[in-house]
Amino acid sequence: MRVLLLGDWPDGERDRWLALLRAAAPEQDWLLVPDDGVEVAVVANPPPGSLVGLPRLRLIQSLWAGVDRLLQDASLPAGVPLARMVDPAMNEAMVQTALWAVLSLQRSFFTLQAQQRERLWRQPAQPRAAEWSVLVLGQGELGGRVAAALAALGYAARAWSRRDGAEPPLETADTVINLLPLTAATRGFFDAARLARMKRGAGLVNLARGAHVVEADLLQALDAGRLGHAVLDVFEREPLPPEHRFWNHPRVTVLPHCAAQTDPRSAATVVAANLRALREGAPLQHLVDRGRGY
Ligand code: NDP
Repeated sequence: MRVLLLGDWPDGERDRWLALLRAAAPEQDWLLVPDDGVEVAVVANPPPGSLVGLPRLRLIQSLWAGVDRLLQDASLPAGVPLARMVDPAMNEAMVQTALWAVLSLQRSFFTLQAQQRERLWRQPAQPRAAEWSVLVLGQGELGGRVAAALAALGYAARAWSRRDGAEPPLETADTVINLLPLTAATRGFFDAARLARMKRGAGLVNLARGAHVVEADLLQALDAGRLGHAVLDVFEREPLPPEHRFWNHPRVTVLPHCAAQTDPRSAATVVAANLRALREGAPLQHLVDRGRGY
């Protein structure tokens, strides 16, 4: 099959992907320039409009887990199956980031770090894991794994998705971890009203998409001391602008969208498996429901 690799990335990164994809699927004909024979487009947020005019296109395979940006491209060919990346290495990294955030909040490690800068010797309270309630929003590939890993360490952790009710039980959680996909239904999810429903002093950990959080509302909740701390990996604008208040806010920990990166080595084998399935007429993995938006 003729497989087109297309992304919004520097040439070096593209070439690394190409080499790994070629090694994982040497039977495919890999292209960097589109032609009429392209049957599969393997994409990493390509510029809008770049998948137009491919008459034989049978599959769009994203290299990224979140497809919100891709779905914003109105010219994305309708009716062509779209698969997203579910990468075991990325799942593992996300669990690690979530564990670090929960541990840091439960054991006050962010506060202790700030105290060191002030030469302050002050011992914090030490709640037990079983006394620390964690709510994970989303119980898909990532949310489900994160909640299970936290529960295995003894945390009072549970995952929530819409099948559990219209609204998440924010009131009781000491830490809320966001792992929802960004869709029309979840954009601006953490607005003033929902933030006000969170337990006083609770921590918010956003590892999904920046647009899930209304940043001005979050700043207000943090400034007022209603929320204890926010760990933010994703932002409305990325890179986070240098003048943004999050950078220096005492109650905010900023990460540069690195909670879990796709690992090209394992991701290439995931892509190769879907290409083989397509050629053999077997079921495709990790298909996106375009109506739902994830
Ligand atoms: P999945 O599609 O596997 O899971 C999504 C979950 O969210 C499902 O449980 C789904 O419910 C639930 N959900 C969807 N819409 C709603 C809604 N309106 N209300 C309540 N629950 C909802 O996604 P993943 O776990 O693989 O990934 C989640 C997101 O994480 C990605 O979309 C991406 O944005 C982000 N991400 C961030 C990374 C980073 O480095 N920061 C890296 C990778 C991903 P149901 O089970 O009922 O369908």
